[in-house]
Amino acid sequence: MENVLNYIGGELRPALERGWLDALAPSTGIVHAHIADSGPGDVELAFQAARAALPGWIALGRKGRHDAIMRVADLVERDLELFAKAESLDNGKPLHVARDLDIPRAIANLRFFATAILHWGSESFATDDVALNYTDRRPVGVVGCISPWNLPLYLFTWKIAPALAVGCTVVAKPSEITPYTAFLLAERCVEAGFPPGVLNIVQGTGPRVGSAIVEHPGITAISFTGGTATGARIASVAAPMFKKLSLELGGKNAVVIFADCDFDRMLSETVRSSFSNQGQICLCGSRILVERSIYERFRDAFVDKVKALRVGDPGRADTDIGALVSDGHMRKVLGHIELAKEEGGRVLCGGERVILEGPLREGWYLAPTVIEGLDQECRTNQEEIFGPVVTIQVFDTEEEAVALANATRYGLASTLWTSDVTRTHRLARSLRTGIVWVNCWMLRDLRTPFGGMKQSGVGREGGEEALRFFTETTNVCIKL
Ligand code: NDP
Repeated sequence: MENVLNYIGGELRPALERGWLDALAPSTGIVHAHIADSGPGDVELAFQAARAALPGWIALGRKGRHDAIMRVADLVERDLELFAKAESLDNGKPLHVARDLDIPRAIANLRFFATAILHWGSESFATDDVALNYTDRRPVGVVGCISPWNLPLYLFTWKIAPALAVGCTVVAKPSEITPYTAFLLAERCVEAGFPPGVLNIVQGTGPRVGSAIVEHPGITAISFTGGTATGARIASVAAPMFKKLSLELGGKNAVVIFADCDFDRMLSETVRSSFSNQGQICLCGSRILVERSIYERFRDAFVDKVKALRVGDPGRADTDIGALVSDGHMRKVLGHIELAKEEGGRVLCGGERVILEGPLREGWYLAPTVIEGLDQECRTNQEEIFGPVVTIQVFDTEEEAVALANATRYGLASTLWTSDVTRTHRLARSLRTGIVWVNCWMLRDLRTPFGGMKQSGVGREGGEEALRFFTETTNVCIKL
């Protein structure tokens, strides 16, 4: 059985206290690896290594850092199949999703930011004939990156790549539930001769390792993706220390469907936006709002398509829905379905655990679930479920649709289906979300700002926003 080790100061090593946690495979419920159960002592070691490596990493310059990151990306690409299998094993997602989405995107993240830094310049402002200002941006220092379990290597690299590219050194923690691909990345860093101490990966739990990173006085910025409650806890510790904070948190995203949309395209994309990755993507649309004139047509066609989704072995090419990430998470989602019934919801399909045959019998599988008959104020339509569960509601007017879409504490993403251009512009302005997709879903361009409003987060990632976050700005004003 594999030991998932820390990567500190360029070495793969167990936790100082030599403790281990179990990594479970969601598809079978069986232990598949042991994870270093690290603590504050390991974080301190990682910090010391990162601090020592900082001057050399900055001195390497943009081209040197670009080359080092690209070498690692090339090795991940060489071993793509191994990474994809590890991600599927650790997370329960279908192998083809890891192979086609997660790992290619992780490679793209590394290459995008390694290259972006070569093209990044600073601004200058001439104050008439009186003075000239220019903006100087320097890496903030040692930074902390904490990522969740749903898109493990994808989100891990999304954070570390811009930090490394601008010249920061990093202490990073993947989720203890899905630690495996970050460990494989560490192995590739060793093979690539990546400078020791520049990237440090400390495995272990949020309360021990994550908290120690957030509380460390020498770590000057925290980039976090995860749940809103954890984000609030992190902010309460980091804000009084005046750390830079980037928080990408939960969502309760609306899909707003008008009768004038391209029905067939909307239907297949809405199945995708509801159930991709078992509904465990912060961007999934979990509240589907449909204009009354097409409500019944949509509901019946949607339920037919959802019933046809194949829940099964993540290793099979024809599996649409794999296992949920943990037993605890599956039970939480089942609890939400029970709550929806108590609130008066009608379960149109799904609503229960799926027991598969043979070795997959103990895996954590759920049938994709569609619920109607609930109003916007109920808990089911307010709380993030983060699983293969969606509700459908009806609306009569554009104003009502906007009011329903905006009526949660979250503001991450929304999806709009219409062929009316002026309505598109009106709604893009009225929907209180950081991302509005129109006639598409999860169409990503890494240069665009990514993040949420309200309790979905603070700040934006992506493109120059990420490069700015990991740098400190000085304005230099020179009198002419
Ligand atoms: P959590 O908030 O539970 O965990 C996220 C990360 O934080 C994990 O690495 C976790 O470690 C760590 N952590 C937990 N407690 C602490 C703490 N006290 N201090 C520091 N770190 C801590 O989220 P999940 O992993 O359950 O991820 C699901 C959530 O992430 C959903 O709410 C989802 O919406 C959100 N998300 C948001 C995205 C966005 O871009 N806005 C994208 C993807 C997900 P460990 O797991 O080891 O305990």
